[in-house]
Amino acid sequence: MKWGLVGASTIASEHMIGAIRAQAGHTVEAVLSSSAERGQAFATRNGIPHAFTDLETLLARPEIGAVYISTTNEKHFSQAMAAFAAGKHVLCEKPLALSVDDAAQMVEAARNAGLVFATNHHLRCAGAHLAIRQIIAEGRLGHVLSVRVFHAVSLPEHLRGWRIDNRDAGGGVIADITVHDADTVRFHLGEDPKTVVAQAVSSGLGEGVEDSVMSVWTMPSGIMVQSHESFTHPYAGSGIEVHGTEGSLFAQGVMTQRPTGTITMTDKDGTVQLNYDRHDLYGYGLKAFNRAVAGHGRPAADGVDGLKSLAVAMAVARSAREGRAVDVDYKGY
Ligand code: NDP
Repeated sequence: MKWGLVGASTIASEHMIGAIRAQAGHTVEAVLSSSAERGQAFATRNGIPHAFTDLETLLARPEIGAVYISTTNEKHFSQAMAAFAAGKHVLCEKPLALSVDDAAQMVEAARNAGLVFATNHHLRCAGAHLAIRQIIAEGRLGHVLSVRVFHAVSLPEHLRGWRIDNRDAGGGVIADITVHDADTVRFHLGEDPKTVVAQAVSSGLGEGVEDSVMSVWTMPSGIMVQSHESFTHPYAGSGIEVHGTEGSLFAQGVMTQRPTGTITMTDKDGTVQLNYDRHDLYGYGLKAFNRAVAGHGRPAADGVDGLKSLAVAMAVARSAREGRAVDVDYKGY
């Protein structure tokens, strides 16, 4: 399948082009940029045959079967809707949109057109998270009581653009990282956060947007979840802990783009380190996407997963803004 890249982005060049090309029979045919100069330079640098500045021109190419959307967040909705109208399968970056209503429209458009729609939530594709999910599902922790997510990192210098100063482009740490943590917790627990309470601040980087947030989520089963995301913590490290009646699981360095980190489990017999598969996260997601296009199974994270992670993030943002507990509104999904 030939792919069109919508957005001359960092994530496309650092991860996705390589991951697409690593799939047998998959190539990158074109890139869309709002700047002819940047688009051509991106195409040349990455060996892509065509660069366009007009989305309709890219979508009119019949040989392009799927598009990967990785523009700034405010553009995802209109670009995905145009792609569905043109009959292209869509792998879209998170957050899917700036509102849950828009995400719902995207889900409906894909369904009505019979097209595959996936969200690029890479963490659930990681060997570490697949292993954690399996341990929980096998009941090795007993009855799960609580989850703690540590995702306070240092935003790399080269990404300190719209994320830290442009609310209209979907900037802020909640849109950037809380969505990933919401998806990861949903993946592990198999249920959707019900109510959230949150506080957010700017702690040195955010200009008009929050760069740090802490929140507590109530799950329908009663499991408590605590989540911390930040752009300003150079040495905190990332991780997730899952605590149950029969054991506790500590995963360190696993909230990342690479197959890194360690998982240990402590129970009545002591502490053991767990092994897991260290495949490429984005390649794993693409494989599932391509299988879904071929009519087998579903993407690793589909459009509804993206809608739900966005709904949690929107509730966290609202709770922080209004200083009260907020029920997550999944718009009936
Ligand atoms: P970038 O800032 O690198 O790219 C976003 C847009 O910014 C591009 O589409 C491009 O516009 C424009 N742009 C890029 N470089 C320049 C430049 N030098 N000067 C001016 N404009 C420029 O964003 P990211 O790659 O970090 O993120 C893109 C999307 O991917 C976001 O939605 C983000 O949330 C998501 N993301 C997801 C990750 C994941 O693991 N799932 C990880 C990182 C990001 P144009 O296309 O018009 O040229």
